Amino acid sequence: MKPLERRSIIADMVKKHEIVQVTDISRVCQVSEMTIYRDIQKLQQEGRVLKTSRGITSVKTDSADENACVCCFKPSESRLAARIVYEDGSAEKVCCAHCALLRFKEKKEKPKQIISRDFMLDTTFNARRAVFVVGSSLPVLCCSPHVLAFQRREEAAKFIKGFGGSLHTIEEAADAVENGMEDDCCFTSHFNHFGKER
Ligand SMILES: [Zn+2]
Ligand SMILES: [Zn+2]
Repeated sequence: MKPLERRSIIADMVKKHEIVQVTDISRVCQVSEMTIYRDIQKLQQEGRVLKTSRGITSVKTDSADENACVCCFKPSESRLAARIVYEDGSAEKVCCAHCALLRFKEKKEKPKQIISRDFMLDTTFNARRAVFVVGSSLPVLCCSPHVLAFQRREEAAKFIKGFGGSLHTIEEAADAVENGMEDDCCFTSHFNHFGKER
């Protein structure tokens, strides 16, 4: 299990239960408590969890965080943002297709819908069956490697004629994002983004 996966699991556990013990996390992730302590230290630096005498707790979020991406905590308000909806009706906000794909990779329970905006048509659609463009020459608008979601193959194909990149299904694109990521890319950018204010 990669550090990124573990940290996402820890953040999820803390969100679900008010207090989580390191021993429980180490059992779930099947790594030593030492490793978990290091993950928690990192999460704490990023302002995602808090270490207290009773255990690990979540950081109370203020209203500004309501629109934060579940993955990297960047604001999820631009036209690149998406909403992930699960079978049980719960939903998550992500800043862009990159983070939507990371969540798609991380979560065992696959989302019912990934409500996104088409990059060219500006229509709202379910990106579960989108065509994803990876590695275009556009400047990175949000997270790197950046990914754009298109509702139809037609527009995506036109787009890559002008801006380069390749067409992928959601599974392929999720692999491409994961493999193309520097370790901690999203968490690092989150830290830089909010580092000044916190
Ligand atoms: Zn994000
Ligand atoms: Zn992003």
